Amino acid sequence: MAVESFIPLSESKITIEKPVKAKPKIEELTTIEKPGNIQEQEEPEKTKKQKNRVEKPKAMAKEEKSEKTIKDIILIVTEKPQAALKIASALSDTARKYSENNVPFYELERNGKRIVVASAVGHLFNLTYVKGQTGWPIFNLEWVPSYESKSAGFTKNYYMLLKKLGRRAKEVIISTDYDNEGELIGWNVLRFIIGEKTAKRMKYSTLTKPELEKSYENPMQTLDWGQAYAGETRHKIDWLYGINLSRALMSAIKLAGSFKILSIGRVQGPTLKIIVDLDKEIENFKSQPYWQIFAIVDKTELKHVKDIFDKKELKEFENIKKGVAETTEKEEHYEPPHPFDLTTLQRESYAHLKLSPSRTLQVAQSLYLDGIISYPRTSSQKIPKEIEPKKIIEKLSKQFKETKIATRVNPVEGEKSDPAHPSIFPTGEFKNLQDDEEKLYNLIVKRFLACFSPNAEGIAKRIQLISENNKKFTANGLTITEKGWTQVYPTTFEEKQIPTIQGQVDIDKIRFEEKETQPPKRYTPASLITLLEKKNLGTKATRSAIVDTLFDRGYLDGKSIQATSLGIKLIEALEKYSPIIIDENLTRDVEEKTEELLNMKSGWDKKEEETVFQVKRLITDISKEFKVNEKAIGIQILAGVQDGREQQKEQNTLMPCAKCNIGNLQIRFSKKSRRSFVGCSNYPQCAAVYSLPPNAMIKKTDKKSERNLPILIALRKGKRPWEFEFDPNWKPDPNYKKDKEESQEQSKENIK
Ligand SMILES: [Zn+2]
Repeated sequence: MAVESFIPLSESKITIEKPVKAKPKIEELTTIEKPGNIQEQEEPEKTKKQKNRVEKPKAMAKEEKSEKTIKDIILIVTEKPQAALKIASALSDTARKYSENNVPFYELERNGKRIVVASAVGHLFNLTYVKGQTGWPIFNLEWVPSYESKSAGFTKNYYMLLKKLGRRAKEVIISTDYDNEGELIGWNVLRFIIGEKTAKRMKYSTLTKPELEKSYENPMQTLDWGQAYAGETRHKIDWLYGINLSRALMSAIKLAGSFKILSIGRVQGPTLKIIVDLDKEIENFKSQPYWQIFAIVDKTELKHVKDIFDKKELKEFENIKKGVAETTEKEEHYEPPHPFDLTTLQRESYAHLKLSPSRTLQVAQSLYLDGIISYPRTSSQKIPKEIEPKKIIEKLSKQFKETKIATRVNPVEGEKSDPAHPSIFPTGEFKNLQDDEEKLYNLIVKRFLACFSPNAEGIAKRIQLISENNKKFTANGLTITEKGWTQVYPTTFEEKQIPTIQGQVDIDKIRFEEKETQPPKRYTPASLITLLEKKNLGTKATRSAIVDTLFDRGYLDGKSIQATSLGIKLIEALEKYSPIIIDENLTRDVEEKTEELLNMKSGWDKKEEETVFQVKRLITDISKEFKVNEKAIGIQILAGVQDGREQQKEQNTLMPCAKCNIGNLQIRFSKKSRRSFVGCSNYPQCAAVYSLPPNAMIKKTDKKSERNLPILIALRKGKRPWEFEFDPNWKPDPNYKKDKEESQEQSKENIK
């Protein structure tokens, strides 16, 4: 028996019978990984000492001296500042840190060569449409610096620094994360900022000194063009879909006489349809009664092998008194679970730690940047010898006593592999961690150690009872004889003792239990990304963000994965008038074409052109179909918008207003001050108003406090959600110092 079938927890399949442990909480569904977030970082010891010395980097100093730029440095470009720090410290013990306009970079010498390590900060370029195109469909797009849009203004200093350093580079090494996105980030820096066609490429899976040194000494001679073009193709396709479908929806709504910003992405449409379909199945579900029947022999309950749906059949069981029993025993071996690929990590982290898939990816990314785990965006379930796992286990033994159990020579591995990276594994390096980081790190270490731990062994016992009128009952037991890997990794392995019953027996009692068939369970964030993976929709790196985006756009409800009426009406309208938009086969086809680029040896540019052209043609077809029924689509979506507004009002209502005794207190959002507050529905007649924490999205939960007051939840990007009681009678304690953030926020407002 495979271990998965014994421990459904770990490889939770999306079965309808399986009870789902807990509903996801809002906070688990709305944490958004913000790409390009600058991580806080510490300077290495050595640079701290030199901090006070004012010293100009050599590269810069020279530039000022002579007009003509001397190309004298090797420039290494990373994806994030933290990676630059790691690479610089790995390549030299005496790397110096500089910063220009708050952007750090590092200078060092190695084998007599002067190296500068600088970073992007995620994507420095975005696709946008060439100005002057109105209506839809539009197809002309171009890369522009991200800093041109306000929200990414902070990327300008990175851009400028790379430009400056690029002029001095006699050689460039791209050292971004090794995947499609990373390759594209590097390629864009190379062609648009530095003005080079290609560069060497450092490939690594961990930010550890040995691997980084090795990767620097043995770089690839060119970019990984398959990845670069796959990245660019996907961006172009998503952009074309995104802008055109959004314009289509908005134009439809306008035609129906209203205005609302709506958009739907290439993968989001089909994903939303999957959710709406399940919602409908649940709604239309008619529950049916059925019976489970148990025979009791010597205080042991044996269950009839079939559930009974026809009540009349129950009669056949009423007078059962005797039967023949047989007890058999069988040795069972339970292999450890396979190593973590990203989806499995997200699923397990949700099951054991209650972290949402996107939060898990965010935390894993930070552990990777700390150098303590390998690159998390991987599909691999393999542990290659090259990572020297035994050395890692040796290092881990200082902190994890479970290493003693990890004695298996060759690890257990899964089916899937990934050409770019191995499975997710700990590097054996340490850092003090807290909260989610610590919990997720421990889970990753334990999973890794479990792969090297012996099988669990057990004896499965089974009693089979055949009654005198030929009805079959069974009972199953399990005794664990060797705990093996179950001492290392959390499982729901359960022992159950049953007696041995043989031969002719008296049946003491027949017990009937009436039950009702249950509707299918709604998706959890974890089961939904598992399903998307199975259907090959989206990519390992984007699936959790797809789910988040559907929430952000109001298509899904915040408490469990359930479509809002806007989401339902949107899907209904598209199903009726433009089913092609939500056809999962089409988007999967695009995904597969993009994947093909990865395996090609040449001709990537042609393939990209072809794929993008195909998408343009598809969008042209969509537009023809859509425009015929535009108004009808608009009217239907608008109905969803209005339903949604009503629902939202209801959801935001907290309690009757004690000031006017007419209205209700509701959570509101002020566009002016950009923050939530509580106001009265009877406004402007009643001016009751209460402030709420700033810089957060505030939502009502289902919970009430001990004082029977509503519990609200504050969601902040990148922070843990925070629950609090809403008390309209709360008065600030005059002696208590105001919350720092709150007072800052207010002083900002005063300035305005
Ligand atoms: Zn009022």
